[in-house]
Amino acid sequence: MQGHAARYRRYYVPDPRAEANPRVCDSPGCTAPGVFRAPKSREALNEYWWFCLDHVREYNRSWDYYKGMTPAQIEAELRRDVIWQRPSWPLGRIGALNDAVCDPLGVLTRRRPGPQPKRNEAPPALRRPLAVLGLDWPVAREDVKKRYKHLVLVHHPDRHGGAREAEEKVKEINAAYAAVMRALRTAHE
Ligand SMILES: [Zn+2]
Repeated sequence: MQGHAARYRRYYVPDPRAEANPRVCDSPGCTAPGVFRAPKSREALNEYWWFCLDHVREYNRSWDYYKGMTPAQIEAELRRDVIWQRPSWPLGRIGALNDAVCDPLGVLTRRRPGPQPKRNEAPPALRRPLAVLGLDWPVAREDVKKRYKHLVLVHHPDRHGGAREAEEKVKEINAAYAAVMRALRTAHE
């Protein structure tokens, strides 16, 4: 597994242009300096997001995962992940699909990050877990479960060459899921 992990490692060098023109990371809610440049999409390779180190890594992981797929294949893949319990998903409801898909950076939908989520109205202890799961507050148990299944699938270490980072990510997702579900259970008792 070591060899695999090494192959997946990347080296990041801040873009010198960021120094002349400082900006904040384009990931929603992140206030770190955006010093790493990443193309917005395969169709617009000369348009860029600016991210902090954490978010450029996250972005590149999603980018690699869907590498070589056409938009139709990506959508098919996402439908499989998201709607496996909903065989009769109506066609043409891409907006609804996008809401169900975990795409915090707009990698797949190529949207400019929208308004800030309402996570800050959540109980303080749940803010971090909700952020990990990419969920707003309030949230329904069913939505938490759905998002959890999707995230575990996407971040499964088998899909990342057994990379340690992916293992850590899944642990973080598990812990966040447990915390949110625990809180929802208590709230309903
Ligand atoms: Zn960031």
